Amino acid sequence: LDYDDGKGWHDARIQPYQPITLDPAAKVFHYGQAIFEGLKAYRTEAGNLVLFRPEMNIKRLNRSNDRMSIPVIDEELVLEALHQLVLIDQTWIPHEPGTSLYIRPFVIATEDMLGVSPSKQYKFMIIMSPVGAYYDEGVKPISIYVESEFVRAVAGGVGHVKTAGNYAAGLKAQEGATLQGCAQVLWLDGVHRKYVEEVGSMNVFFHLGDKIVTPALTGGLLPGITRDSVIHLLRYWGLKVEERLFSIDELVQVQKDGNLKEMFGTGTAAVISPVGSLVWKGETLTIGDGSIGELAAHLYETITGIQTGRIEDPFGWRVVLK
Ligand code: PMP
Repeated sequence: LDYDDGKGWHDARIQPYQPITLDPAAKVFHYGQAIFEGLKAYRTEAGNLVLFRPEMNIKRLNRSNDRMSIPVIDEELVLEALHQLVLIDQTWIPHEPGTSLYIRPFVIATEDMLGVSPSKQYKFMIIMSPVGAYYDEGVKPISIYVESEFVRAVAGGVGHVKTAGNYAAGLKAQEGATLQGCAQVLWLDGVHRKYVEEVGSMNVFFHLGDKIVTPALTGGLLPGITRDSVIHLLRYWGLKVEERLFSIDELVQVQKDGNLKEMFGTGTAAVISPVGSLVWKGETLTIGDGSIGELAAHLYETITGIQTGRIEDPFGWRVVLK
């Protein structure tokens, strides 16, 4: 789908995967007007192909577009494109359990003009790739590095949208985390460097026994669709969920007091990713007993169950493609 100033979005088309040509002065190379989404299509046990809450991704796509001064795209058109693309070839999603089709919609600024102003031309594309089961050998808790030097987002910035630069800015911290033997970075807020926000590509939850705490959407973290689904499910089960500021000091304190039962990340890729340890100021804090916690396991079974049609979908989250 292309955009030209004065003409709007036009020429929706499906074409074989191939390289595209861009002018070296295309604005995306210089000023970072680039946004993206990530979602998956699943095959249910009955053989249907389904999407999980795609309207949430489409709304977030347009929030990202708007924040980056990119014209919004008709939501029905995007949904229709997802339907048509996924149904092109049903063999893209193999029958093995856990496999799915990863879908990457994205927008780039293509106008060939150096100068900091919104582009007058854009391209919206959707590419897809089959992906295997995220966990081949059962769910394994990961280790997370709490970042204290770099920050990911500040209030008023772009942390709450899915723009490419957020990820580029996080790479240095991710490299540092890898050197420490950690899988991901835990970001603290950019103003006080105190409140827990999210990890590299997941939102985070803390199970404190009588309640579950997750960082509030302050503008510095991405409103994850899995996060929203997890909050819904926990409340549906009658559990107490608090969306609020949660400081690293409070986190360390509850861990030391033995009140941190579970910590887990949530995101489209892994669905639920238990955290087994945190590295903070050179100290390793262990969480739980190194295996997946009770709540994380239950959430994982329920969400993947809804996605693959194994269990009922009381919320209407599954969208069957036909
Ligand atoms: N935070 C960030 C920074 C992410 O990139 C992602 C992945 N999209 C998430 C959280 C989780 O979002 P979702 O549940 O929508 O995949």
